[in-house]
Amino acid sequence: MEFYDCYAQSYALARQRFCQTAREKGADVFTHVHPSLSGPQGEELAVDVACFGPVTATRALLVISGTHGLEGFLGSAAQIAWLKGGTSVLAEDVRVVLVHAINPWGFAHLSRTTENNVDLNRNFIDFSAGLPENPGYALMHERLLGPEWTQAQIAAAQKAMDDFAATHGGDALFDTLARGQYSHADGLNYGGTGPEWSHRTLEAIIHEHLPAVRKLAFIDWHTGVGEYGEPFFLCFNEEGSPLQARAAQWWGEDRIRGQLPHGRARPNYQGLLFHGVQSFVGDAAVCGAVVEFGTRGWHMRRMLRLDLWLKFHATPAHPGYAMLQADLLDSFCPFDQVWRDNCLRHALEITEQALHGLQDW
Ligand SMILES: [Zn+2]
Repeated sequence: MEFYDCYAQSYALARQRFCQTAREKGADVFTHVHPSLSGPQGEELAVDVACFGPVTATRALLVISGTHGLEGFLGSAAQIAWLKGGTSVLAEDVRVVLVHAINPWGFAHLSRTTENNVDLNRNFIDFSAGLPENPGYALMHERLLGPEWTQAQIAAAQKAMDDFAATHGGDALFDTLARGQYSHADGLNYGGTGPEWSHRTLEAIIHEHLPAVRKLAFIDWHTGVGEYGEPFFLCFNEEGSPLQARAAQWWGEDRIRGQLPHGRARPNYQGLLFHGVQSFVGDAAVCGAVVEFGTRGWHMRRMLRLDLWLKFHATPAHPGYAMLQADLLDSFCPFDQVWRDNCLRHALEITEQALHGLQDW
């Protein structure tokens, strides 16, 4: 399998390749078209779903790509790699559901967030219970995100973070920046004020395509955390729980327990897609992880701000626009063949490990 047969150069091509490969492999393919928005070239935006195995299955593997928009370049390739090279005959009572580009606007427009600047992986809170607070974020917001993308602005943002860390510590800084905030719609890791279209679409997909599931294995492909080209697991099953032990059995103790993203204490992430999936399947068991592939380590902080600057302040007429957009894409899915090959190899193995674990569950 060649890496260029799995990765695509655009959302539209990724989608076409995913659907075509899934059909060739005998999947039932379903499409949820975005009702109002299109891609930068006017192309349709949609979440595509490929299903294998009976809809009545009580055990299933759910694999999601593109939660963070442009991270879908890797997630899509990982799904296509499994379609091309993974197990083709499933055990009885097992279903596989691949959800392609759950945040198609972000994927197509090369952004990590949705059409409303929402971090979809902070959007699965219970909105009826009120919005989580993050007062530390408000202290930094103005200094982090200026209207210019200049050396001076980059230095000012760094100073804001250094000042915060000097007072509260590095773990608190990471938690404040990453846990999600619900007060600044033009800010970082914004969780929104209601369920996004992608959120509601995922709920519909799970009810439609996994109506009988009792045991659900889960993989959500991401990039940006971990060593370059290496997988990094964020398992959200409860610490010390039997489900966490099961994930460790599938993927390895050292990958599941005690993982410190960027070497720091794990932020108290709010509104994770994993939590959404858990609520949508009721009392069925969900075992799985966000699987990241490392790219530029801590430098990704700057790229999250660049994503917002390109969205809110830049125009294609800006002299740095194309260069910065290419840099953003490369930071989330490096063009480097070594990185792309390595990630695909790991992704195929990780998917197979989950599937084999599921078949014995
Ligand atoms: Zn991500």
